Amino acid sequence: MGVAESDGASLPSIGADAMKRRVTYFYEPTIGDYYYGQGHPMKPHRIRMAHNLVIHYALHRRMQINRPFLAGPEDIRRFHADDYVDFLASVSPEILSENSHSHYRQLKRFNVGEDCPVFDGLFPFCQASAGGSIGAAVRLNRGDADIAINWAGGLHHAKKAEASGFCYVNDIVLGILELLKVHRRVVYVDIDVHHGDGVEEAFYTTDRVMTVSFHKFGDFFPGTGHIKDTGVGSGKDYAVNVPLNDGMDDENFRALFRPIMQKVMDVYQPDAVVLQCGADSLSGDRLGCFNLSVKGHADCLRFLRSFNVPLMVLGGGGYTVRNVARCWCYEWQ
Ligand SMILES: [Zn+2]
Repeated sequence: MGVAESDGASLPSIGADAMKRRVTYFYEPTIGDYYYGQGHPMKPHRIRMAHNLVIHYALHRRMQINRPFLAGPEDIRRFHADDYVDFLASVSPEILSENSHSHYRQLKRFNVGEDCPVFDGLFPFCQASAGGSIGAAVRLNRGDADIAINWAGGLHHAKKAEASGFCYVNDIVLGILELLKVHRRVVYVDIDVHHGDGVEEAFYTTDRVMTVSFHKFGDFFPGTGHIKDTGVGSGKDYAVNVPLNDGMDDENFRALFRPIMQKVMDVYQPDAVVLQCGADSLSGDRLGCFNLSVKGHADCLRFLRSFNVPLMVLGGGGYTVRNVARCWCYEWQ
């Protein structure tokens, strides 16, 4: 892919212009109460911490805050398999404690267990996460907002009939499907340290969604995201993978991110952009291995904002909780 079409210096400045952007933000007040279990690195509490920082810095005055509707089983079935949704909607720690053979088979089949445990309120948690991203898409579709944010979303590993990597319901795929009702072409950008495999797979055969994932590659979860994986059928050349080594810092990341995204935006000309802001690409993450600062991470959002295309901003990974909260609060700047 060609580079050097532009450099940072020639970009339109965001400054005063950004202040006029209409920002809408989805937050479910109970989201921080969900608990994956002792020792599990995924902590929904980080979303409440980010929210509290936003409130204390009075950033909420610059945006509209919404409580997401809970996505219903029928909303979730737009992407996920019926039997998988039925399972998620009915399973609970109590039911599992009955220890029956059929439960065991289902857990195995849907990959629910260790990384993706059954915890109290699992389904309402998925419903709030998905409801936020679908709601964000509805706002962008109606033209009610220019930027729509859901930090409880971004769960990019979930598959059609399988949980994976702490993700059960793929709110991103559901949000993009909603965007496609109105928008012809959507770009999905993923800056989580892990490959955005669930979203790539969902849109691997279509040219209406271009997926672009920047991730650590090589002996690292989930193992996919090779540079030669570019889509199939009508989706050929509409999946972009940027496999990276450990230790990516702000400068190196920016030197790839900006020219690649500039080219994607120029060539593909999307009507909407979805950014997964996984914060496990920050320096010092419990699971990640990149070396980005909060500023370098936020530069990705800043750059994408500068294109003035309707933008959905989602959460994702991030396992050193205080850094995640700091990062997602800072991204407002
Ligand atoms: Zn991740």
